[in-house]
Amino acid sequence: MPAMTETETKPRLDPAVPMVSVRGVGKSFGANVVLRDIDLTVNKSEVVCLIGPSGSGKSTLLRCINFLEVYDRGEIRIEGKLVGYTEAAPRRQLSNRELRDLRRNVGMVFQQFNLWPHMTALENVAEALIQVRGMDKAAAVAHARRMLDRVGLAEKADSYPARLSGGQQQRVAIARVIAMEPHLILFDEPTSALDPELVGEVLQVMRDLAADGMTMVVVTHEMGFAANVADKVAFLDRGRIAAFGPPREVFHESGEPRLKQFLQTYH
Ligand code: ADP
Ligand code: MG
Repeated sequence: MPAMTETETKPRLDPAVPMVSVRGVGKSFGANVVLRDIDLTVNKSEVVCLIGPSGSGKSTLLRCINFLEVYDRGEIRIEGKLVGYTEAAPRRQLSNRELRDLRRNVGMVFQQFNLWPHMTALENVAEALIQVRGMDKAAAVAHARRMLDRVGLAEKADSYPARLSGGQQQRVAIARVIAMEPHLILFDEPTSALDPELVGEVLQVMRDLAADGMTMVVVTHEMGFAANVADKVAFLDRGRIAAFGPPREVFHESGEPRLKQFLQTYH
């Protein structure tokens, strides 16, 4: 078979093509080497948790996967499609159209919920559908209601963000992302801004998504979630993946001293 080139499209739901493939990715900010030779594969319907100390490069890696950041070397593919550029094709920028098509399939949930304060929960979800998906208002509102129902917030549809708890706001933000029907969702510390008693309800929504087969990459300090929900855990340390595998291997069998030290601070 001839080698695929990046301009060819592969079948979208081909299970043999990883959802995310990161190969030899390196990234520096000036003299600060932030990612070193990162390899990471996320298969369809897998949940991969990224753990590691502050400053180890977790957010930068997510941002590279989500085209918010350019990387210096290696390659990242989403469903087989090249994101960014490689050494072989230095600084190849995606066209706006390519970027839009790729972004459409990748959702991101941040620590800060970033809801529009002047819109109700329902409007926050529906507006994204109208603007990005070009849905008409009635269809968007109906779809948005179903998404709020999925995150357990049907009864808060008409509430403004200021009237919602942090946990509820984050669930609205998740509803807004899943409304777009992404193939992949990246979470960057989705519960880190929450009061401890509100963390569980957000993790439960994420657990439900995982059970429904959503492919997810989750940066988190919630080791219980990583242990119970993740298919694979990657421990990032000073820009390298220092341990990778099923949670029980990474948590119990890894001899990596920096990981042991890290886990002690979260147990
Ligand atoms: P983590 O999410 O694991 O805490 P980050 O990916 O945010 O780590 O940061 C990794 C390193 O990259 C840190 O040293 C941070 O200061 C640096 N860094 C991140 N973003 C930028 C940026 N936009 N400009 C310069 N340095 C950055
Ligand atoms: Mg971070």
